[in-house]
Amino acid sequence: MLTERLEEFFKREEPTRPRDYFYVSEVGKCPRQIFYSAKGFPRPPIDGLTARKLAVGDDAHRRIVQALYGLGIVVAAEVPIPPAQLFHGRCDAIASLDGKNYVVEIKTAHPYVFDQMAGGPRRDHYLQLQLYLHYFRIPQGIILAENKATQEFREFVVDLDRKAVNQTLRAFEELRQIIFVQGVLPPLPGPEDKKDWEFDQCRYCPYVQFCRENAANLPQPIRGEEATKEAEERLLVLFEEID
Ligand code: SF4
Repeated sequence: MLTERLEEFFKREEPTRPRDYFYVSEVGKCPRQIFYSAKGFPRPPIDGLTARKLAVGDDAHRRIVQALYGLGIVVAAEVPIPPAQLFHGRCDAIASLDGKNYVVEIKTAHPYVFDQMAGGPRRDHYLQLQLYLHYFRIPQGIILAENKATQEFREFVVDLDRKAVNQTLRAFEELRQIIFVQGVLPPLPGPEDKKDWEFDQCRYCPYVQFCRENAANLPQPIRGEEATKEAEERLLVLFEEID
C-alpha cells in the first residue's frame, strides 16, 4: 500500500555537472570514480532506501551541530574552506574549547565500521580532517563518530599532521594533472592501491559499467541532449530575430 509509493517518493536523480576541482570528501576515493564524477558522467538514480539512509545521516549531523550550539561552543558551522584550486569543501563545525579552536568532523558509522574505529579513526576521515586543518590553519581537530544503530559516540582528537597533508596534496596534484590537464582516465586501481581502501568501492560504484569499458568520453546521448539544447537555443534566437 504505502511502501511502493514511499519508495517512489524518496527515489531521486543525482544531478551531474562537470567541474575542475576536487571535493575534500573525495580523499580516499577511487581515482576513476572521481574522474567520472568530475567529468559529469551520468549515474543511476538513488533508490528510495539509499536516499533514506543518506537523510538519516544528514539528520544526525544537524542534531549534533544543534547540540554543539546548545553547549555554546560553536564558532561557525558548515564553513567553506578558503578558495583553492585543488579542493572545495566545507567542514561541519569549528568549535572553541578551553580557549582553542577545533575543526569538528561529524561521521555517522554503520555498527561494524563503528566497532572497527575502536582502534583509531578511519584513514579517509583522518585525511579529510587533515585537509580542513591545513586550509583553515587550525592545528587541531576532532573526528566525532556516531553509531548509526545505537547512537553511541567515539571521538578522536588529532593534531595537524603536516606529512600526511603534503602527501595528500601531492597525490591530488598528480590526479589533477591526469584528470583536468591531460583529460585522461586514471589507470584501473590494482590490488596494491585497493589495500588502502576502507571498503570494496567497486561494489557500490555508480560508474561500474563505464569503468569496465574504460570509457573516457561522455556517452553519446548526453552529447545528443546538448546538441538538441543548442539547436533549441539557436531556434529561439531565430524566432526572436523574426519577431
Ligand atoms: S568500478 Fe571500481 S575501479 Fe572502477 S571506477 Fe568504480 S570503484 Fe573505481
